[in-house]
Formats: sequence, C-alpha cells, structure tokens
Amino acid sequence: MNHVTRKIVPADPRASYLAAKSEILAAVTRVLESGTYIHGAELAAFEQELAHFIGLPAAAVGVANGTDAIELALRALGIGLGDEVITVANTVTATVSAICATGARPVFVEIDESTMLMSPESVSAALSRPGHKIKAIVPVHLYGHMCDMPALTTLAARHSVVIVEDCAQAHGSQLNGKTAGAWGDLAAFSFYPTKNIGAFGDAGAVAGRSVDALARVRRIRQYGWRERYISEEQGRNSRLDEIQAAILRIRLTQIEKENQTRAEIAAYYRANLAGSAVRIPGIAAGHKHTWHQFVVRTPRRDELKRHLETKGVIAGVLYPVPVHMQPAYRAELDLPVTEAACNSVLSLPLHAGMHLDDAATVVAAVKAWA
Ligand SMILES: *Cc1c(COP(=O)(O)O)cnc(C)c1O
Repeated sequence: MNHVTRKIVPADPRASYLAAKSEILAAVTRVLESGTYIHGAELAAFEQELAHFIGLPAAAVGVANGTDAIELALRALGIGLGDEVITVANTVTATVSAICATGARPVFVEIDESTMLMSPESVSAALSRPGHKIKAIVPVHLYGHMCDMPALTTLAARHSVVIVEDCAQAHGSQLNGKTAGAWGDLAAFSFYPTKNIGAFGDAGAVAGRSVDALARVRRIRQYGWRERYISEEQGRNSRLDEIQAAILRIRLTQIEKENQTRAEIAAYYRANLAGSAVRIPGIAAGHKHTWHQFVVRTPRRDELKRHLETKGVIAGVLYPVPVHMQPAYRAELDLPVTEAACNSVLSLPLHAGMHLDDAATVVAAVKAWA
C-alpha cells in the first residue's frame, strides 16, 4: 500500500476552532457589527471571566501578548533599571526579554532535577548573596506543572521581593486547590494560539492579587493614560482587541473540557510508557497538571526525535538551548541541571484535538525505538 499516513502534530489550534466553529464565527460577526474594535464590552467581560477562572476578585487586564504581560507586570510593581530579577534559563526567551525590557537584569537560578522547575533552594541562595539587587522572582510554571509556590512565596515574603508568575503554560493548573496566577503579586498569561487557552492571533493578560499594580498595568498598556489624553506616567501600546477578546471568552468555556482531554492522553502515555526507555514526567503531590507539554527525557533525544519523524510523529523540543547560552543573553554560569534538561527533553504530541488511538500510535513508535 502506498497511502500517505497522517502526521501526529505537537499542537492543533485549528481543532479548538472547529470544536466551537459556529459560536466563534458568531462572536467575530458580533464584534464586527458592533463598530467597537478596541477596549469595548468583550474585553471588559473577558477580564472579569478570566479573573473568575483563576479565582481572583479583581478583573484581569488584557494586553497584546504574554511577553508584554510579564514586562508590564514587572513595571507596574516598580521593577526597572538597576534591579535584578530571578528566573530560570530553561524557558522561552520571551520570559527573559520581558525582564530585560524593564531595564532589569535577569539572575538565572538552577532548576530542580525531578520537576525541571525553579529550585527554591537556588532562589534562597541567590537571595542570600551579599550585595544583590534582586527585587522580583519570575517562576515559570513550565509544561503545565506549577512551581513550588508555597516555598517561593515564603522566600519572597522573607526577603521583601515580589513575584510575577509566568502562567503562559499553566492555564488552570493548581496546587493545593489554588490556581496558577492566584499565588504571586501578579501573574502573566499568554494566549498564543498553541497555549491551552489560545486566541487566533496574539493576546495576553495580567492577573493577580495586587489591585494597585493591576490599575497601573491598565494605565501602562495604553500610553500611561489616567483618563483619555492625560498620561499619568510613560506608557506603551499593548492592547488586546475585541475580536480576540470575544474569541477568548469562548475559549474559556472550552478549557475545562480540553484540559480533561489533555489529562486523559497524559494518563495514557504515563501508563503505557512506564518502564520504557524514556523517563516519563511526574506529578508532585497536591498538583493539578494541565499538560501543556508531555515531556519525556532521554540522553538520546535527537535520535528518538528523528525516529519518531519516520513514523509520522512530530515531537518538539522545549527548549533546546538554555537562555544563558544563547547569543543575546550569554552569561558565564554553571547550571548543569538546566543544561542536562535542555539536552534530554522531548515533547510528545499532546493537544485537545487528539484521540487515544493517536496516543497509541505515539506509544508504539516510542517503544519501537526502544
Ligand atoms: C508563550 C510563552 C511566553 C510568551 O508569550 P507570547 O504571547 O508569545 O509573548 C512567555 N513565557 C512562556 C513560558 C511561554 O510559554
């Protein structure tokens, strides 16, 4: 037989569109007919609904993308030139470019070997270094699993530094029943199309407990305006438009079901890849994992990736090079756990448009390699 086999892809935002097609088309039409395309009723409603989803009383603030969300959150909390901000190096460079955009300097700390997330011990060590200028911590809830927020919030309080959670990959993730974004002073969300709650374009938001800082984000995102044409401070243009906001309101109604589908596929992978040649991801006690990525580890990662491609299974590498080893952010640092993670991680296809028979194909392909 000479038929073309369907590829199993890492993400499929179009499946989420098709799952709610008539609703989404109606929402886009509604906005187009309304005549209001920026900062209208759709955004205001989405900002309330997102806060409700996270379990926060104050409305979130929509911004243009996730990178801006991190930058504006830090700026609103007073972070700027001369300050230092702790984060990790096994993240998308966006986390770091946002820190640098405030004028602050990133301080990379080591990750925990088992979770690949920010290590509270390394944060504690950085905060104990004499003469440091650390004012904030940006924990990245990578792959859908939250960082150790009880430990990090305790450290932040002890050292009087603020926390901006990077929630781009953790929409609906929880620890001890408390949702990602409700732990820090502020939290940054990206709704890039492949995120668990994805727009069909760029979008982001800042949420959080600090009501004053949220009000400041609201000013900074539109020229620093206190009221129309009167700038209270120097701001930017980082707006979330009405069409994306209307779409995101629908995406919010899909997220619980989509996260459930992701969890089912992850459970299938975990059950069927246990004891195989790859190391499978764990779930720490008290955590609800939302499986933005299903990341296996093997020192022969590149070989496995190529093998899977021959079987029509497209795996991703998040992230191949730690940020401190990239030309734009190069720093002489010794982060062996981070480097080992970047050299061994491989994301198996996992998205809400996938079926268990796709997952079975992936499992068979991994086992055929082993
Ligand atoms: C996607 C992502 C971002 C950046 O979001 P954009 O909307 O692309 O600007 C930041 N941090 C993490 C961890 C991400 O996954």
